[in-house]
Amino acid sequence: MKHPYAHSSIVQSNSTPANPAAERAARDATTPFMPVARRPSFVTSHGQGSYLWDEAGRRYLDVVQGWATNALGHSAPEVLAALAEQSSLLINPSPAFYNRPAIELARLLTRLTHNEQVAFLNSGAEANETAIKLARKWGRKYKRGAFGIISTDGAFHGRTLAAMAASGKPGWEQLFPPYPPGFSKVPFGDLPAMERAIDGATVALMVEPIQGEAGVVVPPPGYLKGLRELADRQGLLLILDEVQTGVGRTGRFLAQEHEAVRADITTLGKGLGAGLPISATLCNERAACFELGDNGSTHGGNPLLAHVALAICSLMSRPEFDLGVQAIAAQLERALRGLASRWGRAHWRGLGLLQALVFDAPIAERLSEAAREEGVLVNAARPNVLRFMPQLRLEEAEITELCAGLERAHARL
Ligand code: PMP
Repeated sequence: MKHPYAHSSIVQSNSTPANPAAERAARDATTPFMPVARRPSFVTSHGQGSYLWDEAGRRYLDVVQGWATNALGHSAPEVLAALAEQSSLLINPSPAFYNRPAIELARLLTRLTHNEQVAFLNSGAEANETAIKLARKWGRKYKRGAFGIISTDGAFHGRTLAAMAASGKPGWEQLFPPYPPGFSKVPFGDLPAMERAIDGATVALMVEPIQGEAGVVVPPPGYLKGLRELADRQGLLLILDEVQTGVGRTGRFLAQEHEAVRADITTLGKGLGAGLPISATLCNERAACFELGDNGSTHGGNPLLAHVALAICSLMSRPEFDLGVQAIAAQLERALRGLASRWGRAHWRGLGLLQALVFDAPIAERLSEAAREEGVLVNAARPNVLRFMPQLRLEEAEITELCAGLERAHARL
């Protein structure tokens, strides 16, 4: 396939550049992006299912998948059909008017998650920002102005200022102070520490069911249930950030279902739009307290993306979808555990199709670079953690190809 920008001024890469560092420097000098991300030298061109191609025509098996957004893979037929169907009808009538796809999506999402209300936003950070505002409003209305949110070390909730304040990413506290006050942190997975941190100003506990960006950190069994009980006992709201774990990623529509827990506020993003930017903040009856003018977003819940999300969620609401994810996830787990035991000094962790190999040495970055050379795109979430977030319809043959690529990459180190 010929890319429409094939003759643009961006430096074209060969599949094996003679000097990647020099090529990157040359390209960076001609691409006027703010220098906030380190990217490999190729320019992506097109994708299909589990595969991504670069402009030089090189094909990669992609287990990064838009950073866990492409729930159905690149250019999924369901997504293309929904876009085609809706784009010729109506794209954005403005959030001041109802549109049918958003109404249907709101009904389906609240039904699937046993919630009462939903707000549609555009990113995970905004969904969390909305959750924080909803909790503060609830604190003002029902808890004598309580506003404090306790979250966890290592957490990632997004890059707006309040979402950064709620995050526990090392080093972030020095980046853009002063942050909004009212955020404190405790170790992830530690219920007694969470309980000790609660004071008279606390309004909510905010946690990821699995810490994705921190390297797929799975809490001890019973943690979410314990948080729910703690929140109930202390009269607090429980906010679960399911931006990465939600929408089928862990083999259930929400990861909280694994412990039969229902949060008061749940945020979704990433997979909800299967690669397109739509997010949601859901709340139960107890937390529902927004009033006229409390929130809004120009693009939030526009019919184009709501129609895509509706197609995705309708597909995922079928029980066989979760079963398919669970089955292929078990195969991926077996394959990755096999690699870990062959290589040694490594172990597996994860849930559903959010999995990781954890090494006892900081080799993940070099391994992911070597894997790229071998035609596999995989994310080094931490210096010692390789993260796997494939599309949810991954196939067995792709797992075999992934492992063969990783074996070749590992042999290069
Ligand atoms: N919460 C979690 C758990 C995430 O993993 C992310 C993104 N990695 C976000 C929030 C932020 O989402 P976005 O980048 O869409 O703002």
